[in-house]
Amino acid sequence: MADLDRKYDVLVIGGGNAALCAAIGARRAGATVLVLEGAPKFYRGGNTRHTRNMRCAHDAATDILTGPYTEQEFFEDLLRVTGGETDEELARLMIAESKDILNWIVEQGVRWQPSLGGTLSLGRTNSFFLGGGRAMLNTLYRTAEGLGVDILYDAEVIDLEIDRGMVLSATFKQGDGRLSARAATLVAAAGGFEANIEWMKQYWGEAADNFLIRGTPYNRGSILKMLLEKGVEAVGDPTQCHAVAIDARAPKFDGGIITRLDCVVFGIVVNKHALRFYDEGEDIWPKRYAIWGRLVAGQPDQIAYIVFDSTVLNSFMPSLFPPIAADTIGGLAVELGLDPETLKKTVADFNAAVRPGTFDHTILDDCRTEGVNPPKSHWARRIETPPYYAYPVRPGITFTYLGTRVNKQARMLMKDGGPAANMFAAGEIMAGNVLGKGYAAGIGMTIGSVFGRIAGREAAKIARN
Ligand SMILES: Cc1cc2nc3c(=O)[nH]c(=O)nc-3n(C[C@H](O)[C@H](O)[C@H](O)COP(=O)(O)OP(=O)(O)OC[C@H]3O[C@@H](n4cnc5c(N)ncnc54)[C@H](O)[C@@H]3O)c2cc1C
Repeated sequence: MADLDRKYDVLVIGGGNAALCAAIGARRAGATVLVLEGAPKFYRGGNTRHTRNMRCAHDAATDILTGPYTEQEFFEDLLRVTGGETDEELARLMIAESKDILNWIVEQGVRWQPSLGGTLSLGRTNSFFLGGGRAMLNTLYRTAEGLGVDILYDAEVIDLEIDRGMVLSATFKQGDGRLSARAATLVAAAGGFEANIEWMKQYWGEAADNFLIRGTPYNRGSILKMLLEKGVEAVGDPTQCHAVAIDARAPKFDGGIITRLDCVVFGIVVNKHALRFYDEGEDIWPKRYAIWGRLVAGQPDQIAYIVFDSTVLNSFMPSLFPPIAADTIGGLAVELGLDPETLKKTVADFNAAVRPGTFDHTILDDCRTEGVNPPKSHWARRIETPPYYAYPVRPGITFTYLGTRVNKQARMLMKDGGPAANMFAAGEIMAGNVLGKGYAAGIGMTIGSVFGRIAGREAAKIARN
């Protein structure tokens, strides 16, 4: 039972992976902890509910990981996907600590399962949660409750009293009322601002109206905004985010994993003018899937169509919605509302440019085009076997990268350069420290777990001194 008359050692705002890792870390370090989760209990856990796996370094194969994934290789992957836009010190710390997280998460009751198959090819690098993110989250909640962490749901924090980098109290909604909680330290783990379309519009303009938000509608960035307005230093480019191509028929929020489309490598992608606009075979899919949301966002009306033929229909995980089908390319164009002649020419030009090769979507194979712009550098095969199919896709925003700058203790840094007196951050709300841009599958959960655990431990230390 939460006791709002007392002053807690650690106040955690948020209810996802980062928040729970912080709460458990702090409680295990001896602190009293209150978690304020803005969502109702059924929807607790933000975007974490939708996750499947986490990327951790390890020096040898485990019972569920097929081989070693060294710290150096992890770091090189991060450098590649971010184009070097990462805080090297924090990135190396995260990667080093991720090794221990593989076991620590299990100590909190979570179980791993071998990698799921399909186009992501993650068997060596990523551990999958047995039962998915929801099961992982339920376990963390159960563990936190068992340790004596107090948790309030439907408790959206609407104000933070902060004096020169020191948080004093938080005001939150509870039913129709307003309540206040006091704590010696704060861990902000309240996600990004992806569900706040108005905020997204500041950077994307009207295009943001066509974005679909893959996760929770509760990550509206209110805590991030408060912190930045009260002197915390920002990190990251506000336009950068994790955005994938998802089925355009997905709901506005919370469509989750079942609307993502991983079939780009099996076909071509055209815009509403029936023209290709980017190399569909640029790099191995786990390193490229997260650029396609952004690419579609840059197209007219933020809509695109993945076009393929019957030979690959069963080669990837389908969307919740069936693909649109037709016996001819022209017929498919009509179904999609595209100009038939242009789509026929786009497909014909592509087919003519395909060079012979040996198809293997798990490696950078030698199936490529020659003489067409943009090229398809790998996995290029003719689209010529009816029926033909297409999925309409829109930008599916997973999470934003603008965040609070932190140091190695996960302590927020103030605009004047010094560390905040008692404020820490973990998860999406500080992801921009590590992810300047780009993404490699499973890093979101690594950021939350590693910095959540550090934030909880460090907050407890300050509170108890
Ligand atoms: C469909 C989908 C699939 C994904 N799959 C993966 C995957 O397999 N692997 C991976 O690594 N990453 C994945 N991600 C990304 C991953 O979900 C996030 O990186 C991670 O869950 C972030 O954890 P978090 O605790 O920071 O945020 P969240 O889990 O989103 O939690 C934020 C919490 O803050 C709460 N909150 C927000 N504002 C307030 C407020 N004012 N007051 C109180 N509470 C508030 C929210 O209710 C929520 O509980 C996926 C994301 C989506 C959407």
